Amino acid sequence: MTWRYALVIDPVDADDDRTTWDDTFTVIDPSAPALSVGELSTQRGDGIFESIGVVDGHAQEVGPHLERLAHSARLCDLPAPHLAQWRAAIAEAAAHCPAGEAVIKLILSRGVEHGPAPTAWVTAAVAADNSAPRERGIRVVVLDRGFDSGAPDRAPWLLLGAKTLSYAVNMAAIREARRRGADDAVFVSSDGILLEGPTSSLIVRHGSRFSTPAPGAGILHGTTQLSLFADLERRGFETAYGDLRLGDLTGADAAWLVSSVRLAAPITTVDQTPIPVDAALTASINEYLLSPRD
Ligand code: PLP
Repeated sequence: MTWRYALVIDPVDADDDRTTWDDTFTVIDPSAPALSVGELSTQRGDGIFESIGVVDGHAQEVGPHLERLAHSARLCDLPAPHLAQWRAAIAEAAAHCPAGEAVIKLILSRGVEHGPAPTAWVTAAVAADNSAPRERGIRVVVLDRGFDSGAPDRAPWLLLGAKTLSYAVNMAAIREARRRGADDAVFVSSDGILLEGPTSSLIVRHGSRFSTPAPGAGILHGTTQLSLFADLERRGFETAYGDLRLGDLTGADAAWLVSSVRLAAPITTVDQTPIPVDAALTASINEYLLSPRD
């Protein structure tokens, strides 16, 4: 990843009424060391983050990303982010993004052990070229997530709806998918409910109806899925949240994993069994996702 820009934020309280933020921002060299060795984000993955797609300098869906950052902060007992301060930091980072596709990351860490405050920073980098997964599609395997669909309610400390920095499990699932000859994974609960990809949301199409797993099922509510459903509804399609099982994926007319930076990647095979790909619809979905969205 080519880093372009990094900004450390001195987080203020959510009710702070100042309107300029320059004295709370410190621009740093994105390729130089910046964190204390006592950082709990690096020692324990104890923090939250967001990855925002940027197209030609426009940061996509900033409001929904900030809402999810605030939601993750609540679930993790982190101080509420001051949304105007973060919005200003995103604008600074976006102004340093080149033409084409980029990614802005927001990180809010619990900070240094016994330290005074959380640590927060924003980075901007050029995005990877995602044309192959968007156009040629991805092969997925279905992987057991290791908990049943009652776990999110029974064990909220698993932080299943929060976008925490602890992504080692998600990365391990992608490596397992590659070991099995696939590109990506779809998690399933131990009682057979499809959940999400390790870094994406699952959407399936049956006729003119698009469905996705309900956010309460212990998954992250994807900003891309939300935005795409709104657009599909505007185009006259039906959208729904609900429990999906393996047959709903293998019997779909088309299916995608969607996320902020890769956007919509059509699924071509599930555990090596081909499923239909709707190339024209996929192209129109990605055209929409690449258009400026707020
Ligand atoms: N689910 C997980 C576990 C993710 O990591 C992501 C993206 O990072 C998503 C879903 C999709 O979220 P979004 O569309 O906001 O990128």
